Amino acid sequence: MAFFLTHSPIHHHSLSLFTKFFLSTKPKTLIFLSSPSPKVRTFSSLTSTISISEEPPLQQISQDKLFIPPETEILTEKPPRILKGSNIVLSKYARDAQIISAEFVKSSVETDACPNDGWPEFALVGRSNVGKSSLLNSIVKRKKLALTSKKPGKTQCINHFRINDSWYLVDLPGYGYASAPGELRKDWNKFTKDYFLNRSTLVSVFLLIDASIPAKKIDLEYASWLGQNQVPMTIIFTKCDKRKKKKNGGKHPEENVQDFQDLISEYFDTVPPWIMTSSLTNQGRDEILLHMSQLRNYWLKH
Ligand code: GDP
Repeated sequence: MAFFLTHSPIHHHSLSLFTKFFLSTKPKTLIFLSSPSPKVRTFSSLTSTISISEEPPLQQISQDKLFIPPETEILTEKPPRILKGSNIVLSKYARDAQIISAEFVKSSVETDACPNDGWPEFALVGRSNVGKSSLLNSIVKRKKLALTSKKPGKTQCINHFRINDSWYLVDLPGYGYASAPGELRKDWNKFTKDYFLNRSTLVSVFLLIDASIPAKKIDLEYASWLGQNQVPMTIIFTKCDKRKKKKNGGKHPEENVQDFQDLISEYFDTVPPWIMTSSLTNQGRDEILLHMSQLRNYWLKH
């Protein structure tokens, strides 16, 4: 398979610190995710609470397909708490998941120019039109923020948004613009690759994949490059509300989600975390925030 970026040795700080979280050993046991009565657990914050459903998912998930955070034990007698519409097991690090404040900080043209206060960050990246701005709006519940990063001149920058005065959401340029000349496209890739490999405070890349259509080659290339370079990655499947089979290449979002995972599995030692989302219905919003909180709190402690 061709790669969208050229290879170089792995030498980023987040790898040593954080790989443990993503690259734990593969368990093989089957977990039967049925519990007698659904429960709802709430996470408090200053302004409101986030509820997570602990209903059993519709299908059985084998344990080797789950993302199990470190310091999280799976006991046979007690089913794990799995975030709805995802393969992510909740850990004791999931807390402070509510967004209280969000503000645009700066646009940078290179990694060295990014904020240097050491706060943890999550980078959103995906093919143009995948729904990245809509998701950003849905996460922060504000239209203005994503508009800022869509302003002419800022779409090709690393855009930092400060959340709760303690961490960053980072909007990276969309890839795969059909209209972009080849040379220009290569430059964006070089610049994003440098960010992925050298940004020491990058906790996880959030790779957005459109679940309403079959996997695109460029998305598979992007995911496989991240996997082979061991850049921590979470897959965010977008547009999961689009259920018309005819329009969506003959498949439901769930089928496209499964296909995408099968296609990238060879590039990962362990299954990456994934979440199904929709910016129309806000599906997956709370789950993204809880997942970010557990990654962030673990990262801060280690
Ligand atoms: P970006 O280029 O990745 O920032 O994508 P946008 O957020 O601008 O969205 C691209 C298109 O997809 C727009 O027409 C959106 O209305 C649509 N879109 C984005 N998210 C969703 C979603 O969750 N569900 C549906 N049905 N459409 C979406």
